[in-house]
Amino acid sequence: METLFTKICQGVIPSTKLYEDDICFVILDINPVKKGHALVIAREPYPNMAACPDDVLAHMISVAKKIDARQRAVLGNDGSNIIINNDPASGQEVPHIHIHVIPRYTGDGRRHFQDHDVYADGEMAETGAKLKLS
Ligand code: AMP
Repeated sequence: METLFTKICQGVIPSTKLYEDDICFVILDINPVKKGHALVIAREPYPNMAACPDDVLAHMISVAKKIDARQRAVLGNDGSNIIINNDPASGQEVPHIHIHVIPRYTGDGRRHFQDHDVYADGEMAETGAKLKLS
């Protein structure tokens, strides 16, 4: 399946590339939360995390770790958000798995999760019991 990112990978759409190998490539996000915001993108257009093989995902995380270190060394950010939007309900716009690596600075005021749910009495334990991995 062709996606925006396969077109970027093929060079049909231009990008600012930071890294590439046989499994993934890294570009700057065109609409950065903070300057230097990078996307680690699988070469294969797996639409979401469930479709992405574990070894590919593990490799992408290791590349994200290197990009995070590079951002901190060059940009001097104090922290970062490492995020995968997983399917449209989560806000994923491009159905081609990618990891956002977003530089963050103390007090920069950017918030990703503005609102939070509140558990009713006993609901947290009940939810935890249902979600336990067997
Ligand atoms: P997501 O919402 O997780 O699917 O993220 C998609 C990201 O792709 C967004 O942060 C967009 O700003 C970014 N994006 C869209 N078009 C381009 C482009 N041509 N070059 C670089 N990043 C892009």
